[in-house]
Amino acid sequence: MPRTDLVIFDCDGVLVDSERVTTRLLAEVITEFGLPTTVEDAIARYKGTDLSVIVEHVGAQLGRPADELVEIYRGRMYAELGAACDACPGAPEALDAVEAAGLGWCVASNGPRKKIETTLRSSGLTNRVDPARVFSAYEVGVWKPEPGLFLAAAESLGASPERCVVVEDSRSGVVAGKAAGMRVIAYADITPAADLLDAGADAVIASMHELATALGIQTDRVGV
Ligand SMILES: [Mg+2]
Repeated sequence: MPRTDLVIFDCDGVLVDSERVTTRLLAEVITEFGLPTTVEDAIARYKGTDLSVIVEHVGAQLGRPADELVEIYRGRMYAELGAACDACPGAPEALDAVEAAGLGWCVASNGPRKKIETTLRSSGLTNRVDPARVFSAYEVGVWKPEPGLFLAAAESLGASPERCVVVEDSRSGVVAGKAAGMRVIAYADITPAADLLDAGADAVIASMHELATALGIQTDRVGV
C-alpha cells in the first residue's frame, strides 16, 4: 500500500452529522412540490447528488420546472443546520489521529462553501479547519461522482492521487474517489456497507472511531 500523504474528508455525513437533517428537509420540500417522497426515497435517489440534478429529476417527474425548490430547501437547511449540527461521532478523534501521524488533510464537499462553513461552525469544528483546505464543488466547478473535485484538492496541496485517501459516506463520493485514482475508505452510516463496497470502496468502517486503524495510523498511546 503506498504511503499516505493526504486524507481528503467529505464533509456531510463524514465530519458533520448533517445528512439526517438534509434528507428529511429534501423529502419534505419535494413532497410539498407535489412529488410524494419519503426520507428513504430521498436517501436512495438523491444522497450525494448535486442539487441541480435533483431539481431536474423532480421537474421531469412533475412535468414542470421545480427550480424554486432550491431556494426553499436552502432557506430551511441553513436555518436548521445553523441552529444545530453535531460532529459525526469519532470525527474529532479521527482528525486528532491524522494530525498526530503527521498526515495532511482537507475537506472536499459537493456543497457550497456557505453550507460547509455553517455545519463546521455548528458542530464546533471550525477552528480545526484551515479555509484554504476546504474545497467546494461550487468553486471548482466539478461535482462528485466526477473525480475533478478530489483531483483539484490533491493538486492544490501538492499530493499525488495514489498517495491520497478519500473518506466518504455516499456512493457518488466513493465513485469519485476511485475515478480519481485514490484509495477510498467508506463510512457506512446511512448508506449500507454493501452499497459502498459495490461502488468500489477499498474498505468500509462502521464508525469514524475506526478510521485511524483503517488508515494504519492507530497508535497505542500511553496516558500521561
Ligand atoms: Mg457525504
